[in-house]
Amino acid sequence: MSSPKNSFRIDVVDLLHRPGEMREREFEAAAGEDWRNAVIAVPKGTPVKVDARLESLHEGILVTATAETTAVGECVRCLQALEEPIKVEIQEVFAYSLDDAFDYSIRDAQLDLEEAVRDEVVLALPFQPVCEPDCEGLCPLCGIRLLDEPNHEHEAAIDPRWSALADLKGNPEQIGTAESSAQKEER
Ligand SMILES: [Zn+2]
Ligand SMILES: [Zn+2]
Repeated sequence: MSSPKNSFRIDVVDLLHRPGEMREREFEAAAGEDWRNAVIAVPKGTPVKVDARLESLHEGILVTATAETTAVGECVRCLQALEEPIKVEIQEVFAYSLDDAFDYSIRDAQLDLEEAVRDEVVLALPFQPVCEPDCEGLCPLCGIRLLDEPNHEHEAAIDPRWSALADLKGNPEQIGTAESSAQKEER
């Protein structure tokens, strides 16, 4: 199927009240909104590939499906843009009448898988996405991405303002003088 049908609805008129009947449906739909957690998202309109098996039961239709899509975000260590493939499985009964036993129902001889797929996808989104498992993040001194520069290091250069302070600290005579003069003043 080449063009997304933009809907997760499946026509099941041929399965209604025919326990034991089974159908398979493969289609591509588009996420109706951003599916996200705090750090990564499947943006609205992203294609989602669904492979579903539908089984007619006495109380409704059992749907067993896999859904595959791609989340986009950035690496939490180096901030580089990344894509994360997401694959989830759902299994839900869409009941003929809505009661406490089932979360979903059949309406107008159709099932709408979007909510069930979205809930599973959001649960599957990583909270610590990384561009590569061994990403070393950014250099704390200059901000360069360390994976790009494996041998990256800085000269132990000392800022002249700090070297003046280091001279002062490292001179025991000066410190001694300061202490003894302070003691004199106390007396
Ligand atoms: Zn990274
Ligand atoms: Zn650096």
